[in-house]
Amino acid sequence: MAVSGAQQDGPEHARSGQEHRTATTEQGRFSVARCSCGWRGPARRARSQARTDAEGHRAGL
Ligand SMILES: [Zn+2]
Repeated sequence: MAVSGAQQDGPEHARSGQEHRTATTEQGRFSVARCSCGWRGPARRARSQARTDAEGHRAGL
C-alpha cells in the first residue's frame, strides 16, 4: 500500500541501526520505562507517565 504524505507515526528512526523497543515494567509501586537499547526512564507513580517517558525517549532520538 502506498501512503503519501509524511506521517510522524513510525518509531522507525533507525539512525544508529539500533532497535528501540520500549516497555514499562513495574517496580514496586512505581512504573519504569525501559528500552532495548539499555535506556531506562525514571520511576513514575503512574504507568501512563512512564509510557510518556518512553515515547519521549524514542521521539528524542
Ligand atoms: Zn532506546
